[in-house]
Amino acid sequence: MNTPNEPSFRESVDIMFNRAVALMDLSPGLEEKVRVCNATYTVRFGVRLRGQIQTFTGYRSVHSEHMEPVKGGIRYSMGVNQNEVEALAALMSYKCALVEAPFGGSKGGLCIDPRQYDESELELITRRFAYELIKRDLINPSQNVPAPDMGTGEREMAWIADQYKRMNTTDINGSACVTGKPTNAGGIQGRTEATGRGVQYALHEFFRDSEGKKKAGLEGTLDGKKVVVQGLGNVGYHAAKFLSEEDGCKITGIIERDGALVNPDGLDVEAVRTWIAENDGVSGYTGGTYVKDGASVLEQDCDILIPAALEGVINLSNAERVTAPLIIEAANGPVTAGADDILRAKGTVIIPDMYANAGGVTVSYFEWVKNLSHIRFGRMQRRQEEARHQLIIDELERLSSDSGIGWELSPNFKQKYLRGAGELELVRSGLDDTMRAAYQSMASVWHERDDVDDLRTAAYLVSIGKIADSYRAKGL
Ligand code: GLU
Repeated sequence: MNTPNEPSFRESVDIMFNRAVALMDLSPGLEEKVRVCNATYTVRFGVRLRGQIQTFTGYRSVHSEHMEPVKGGIRYSMGVNQNEVEALAALMSYKCALVEAPFGGSKGGLCIDPRQYDESELELITRRFAYELIKRDLINPSQNVPAPDMGTGEREMAWIADQYKRMNTTDINGSACVTGKPTNAGGIQGRTEATGRGVQYALHEFFRDSEGKKKAGLEGTLDGKKVVVQGLGNVGYHAAKFLSEEDGCKITGIIERDGALVNPDGLDVEAVRTWIAENDGVSGYTGGTYVKDGASVLEQDCDILIPAALEGVINLSNAERVTAPLIIEAANGPVTAGADDILRAKGTVIIPDMYANAGGVTVSYFEWVKNLSHIRFGRMQRRQEEARHQLIIDELERLSSDSGIGWELSPNFKQKYLRGAGELELVRSGLDDTMRAAYQSMASVWHERDDVDDLRTAAYLVSIGKIADSYRAKGL
């Protein structure tokens, strides 16, 4: 998809890294230590399927171990290769540092088209891949904790956790070896929606930043803003759903594998998702106009463009024609380094991947803590909180009637106020807090330093600074 002059994904990440470190005062040795990928393990394993042995190639790359465990998803896709996994592992290090999830960065991938296999075959393949990684401590609650990524989800994570427990029967913290598990197998509420929810919270914070909005030439709130989403997978779907259902955005374009749908009045995200699940694509859906050349919709007039699929989709061949004033990178690496230069020169504001899609790893962090503490968040406090709120309500009502004022608390207020926070509310609150704090740390660099004119460089400055501090504290 990229033009011949386009650097690879791995090179793109390094170019962006180098642009930021040029503005920092790091010793060259430390700079290199932070940039390089520590190790990449390649495994080729055979699985007997349909009467014959099929060989698969998988990777687990560890970028930085300044904090352990290292963290990052496992991707199932035919596009997986060492270069990609290393670029993604590096982004994980920067992402975790930026949102203060106490992990180093890692990523894994299996070169496979999961749609070619049925569930029991995928289970065999996943367990075999997990076995290879577990026996080398590349899956381990205290060393390396995978999570879902493109082509994987709760189901694969449950198989991996079970495989780890079969191989480590006395490890009481076994569930913490992987995150993104189903809630009935040690997962946490709100993990599936987390990355999309994080994109929504990131946009909330951006729209509270008047200086940021001014730089993008945007005004007002999210209400009525035109949004184009590329990829209606887990991340794109949740982001589009929450932005349209809760914030009043109009999803004017949805780009998928087989083309795109456009509708200036807004598409029904839920209906499109159902259509895709049943028809394996967007074509034929009647609630919008079908556009065969899906990529052209990236160039459509809108306020916010959300690439939520593959890396490199905005590149030297189309960046000039992308007109959205604000791009939020829900995917990892959707804008190449060359495209980034073009867009920055045009004044496009890009909310960078390492921040924009950090909601997933943030809630993974909560899940890991939950697994290690062996108790659901809110279990001890919820009823006590409710009892204390009841006391206040009773007292207010008594005062009101004793004094003859006759105030009545609205039933809606009472119901909301009386409800103690459960796990989902706590997870969302922790995620919101994380996204706000990380935005503030980036935005202050963006707005205050004259030599920083984009959020990506600001994000790199903050995260590289934190990683470098960890290395220094270790005496490196
Ligand atoms: N695969 C996701 C990412 O790229 C989640 C990683 C995690 O939760 O560890 O950020």
